[in-house]
Amino acid sequence: MNTDAFIGLGSNLQEPAAQLARAVAELAALPDTTLIAQSPFYASSPVGPQDQPDFVNGAVWLSTGLDAHALLDQLQAIEKAHGRERLRHWGPRTLDLDLLVFGSQMLNDDRLTVPHRELPNRDFVLQPLLDLKPDLTLPTGTTVNALRAQCPDNRLRQLHPPDYP
Ligand code: AMP
Repeated sequence: MNTDAFIGLGSNLQEPAAQLARAVAELAALPDTTLIAQSPFYASSPVGPQDQPDFVNGAVWLSTGLDAHALLDQLQAIEKAHGRERLRHWGPRTLDLDLLVFGSQMLNDDRLTVPHRELPNRDFVLQPLLDLKPDLTLPTGTTVNALRAQCPDNRLRQLHPPDYP
């Protein structure tokens, strides 16, 4: 049985929008997985250290036969292929992939917290989720729309071609 999975993408190094576009294609090609929709991309100010470039963020909606941990393995393999290094907490990165929502599952173990722990605090995650599915509701019953209304503003700016491929 397939599960609707929502993945957040972020990058602020080495042509971020191109990193994201490549990652979307790689996510669409995962085994037993279909890309349902891709959000617009947004530029956002960095969270944490300010001495780094702005981020580009987006999200995708997948339908997948993988379980959550197998999907996380795939996300981490894609991050690695993009040359991701963990230089410092909340520091610059070539590609960050987060499992935001996985069907109606609530998970909390040493590898995964789903829905993603930072979801309520990040407009650059909530806005692309709303673009993908305006009525998206978390397993707790909270709507993404309600979270977005309460979320601190991070100066999101939607990008348009030719700012990204
Ligand atoms: P970061 O690269 O800063 O996003 O953190 C990666 C770490 O967060 C990895 O060790 C993951 O096992 C862990 N993690 C916990 N929950 C999630 C999630 N929902 N999506 C992606 N990584 C997660």
